[in-house]
Amino acid sequence: MTNKICLAVFIAVFASNFSVNAQGKLNVVTTTEDLAAIAREVGGDHITVDSIAKGYQDPHFVEAKPSFILKLQKADLLILVGRELEIGWLPPLIQQSRNSKVQVGADGYLDASLQARILEIPQGQITRAEGDVHPLGNPHYWLDPENGKIIAREIFDRLSRFRPNEGAFFEPRLNDFLNRLSDAEKRWGAMMAPYKGTKVVTYHRSFPNFAERFGLDVVGYVEPKPGIPPTPQHTLDLINEMKKANVKVVLVEPYFDLKTPNSIGRATGAEVLVMPPSVGGVKEASDYFKLFDYDLNLLINAIKKIREN
Ligand SMILES: [Zn+2]
Repeated sequence: MTNKICLAVFIAVFASNFSVNAQGKLNVVTTTEDLAAIAREVGGDHITVDSIAKGYQDPHFVEAKPSFILKLQKADLLILVGRELEIGWLPPLIQQSRNSKVQVGADGYLDASLQARILEIPQGQITRAEGDVHPLGNPHYWLDPENGKIIAREIFDRLSRFRPNEGAFFEPRLNDFLNRLSDAEKRWGAMMAPYKGTKVVTYHRSFPNFAERFGLDVVGYVEPKPGIPPTPQHTLDLINEMKKANVKVVLVEPYFDLKTPNSIGRATGAEVLVMPPSVGGVKEASDYFKLFDYDLNLLINAIKKIREN
């Protein structure tokens, strides 16, 4: 019996090594570091993962570089956020890569938004005429850990389709990630419970899923519209609204100029926090869990300080 088990284990290990060696590691390219972090959780050392955009960059506006085309040329699987987040820079890179595996609709093209919970889907006619960069709903959906789970399952499905022999490697990794995330969500929920309903203003509409999950009330934005820089009139209106609603927190993504947020902070007495919406946005947010740890601690410390004053 023991021998049989040993033999089975030996065959399983041999088979999995064989498939890795025979085919090489699956080469995964993601558009953002958040997707890379989740792909790493599922794929472990059976895949290589490289992100095009860095977490400290605005994912709507990434400057295309020739090195990005090279990454895509070698990719087996491209994972993107979708909902037109990358519309301004990804399509020409995909085209120029001439890699048939990652063209739109190919097996190696994974739009991670298709099963996720998407907020702020516009009703009626959709137009980008006014510069709105969220025409298909809010693309910052990875900031809800429940969507993180959905993304992980989608990545697992795709990796298993590419490497059916390695399903026994990917599946426990997926389950472990889902379990650790469920545990973390309980911890994060308890941390945030005393601060439910806290009113905040954010620079860009990056945090609706985050706010929904953790009980924040987003009452306004520094941008008049997603992707449109602040205007003096909008800033004045926002300041008045913040004074009326007693809003004391302004969240700013690391890639925006702090000049307007700081002037809003001075006018309203609000704390201005640089809060990364992505893994890699600050060095402490080095994986998907640490992103939420960092953001929630930053927020809670600021709210505590405001309540003491
Ligand atoms: Zn956006």
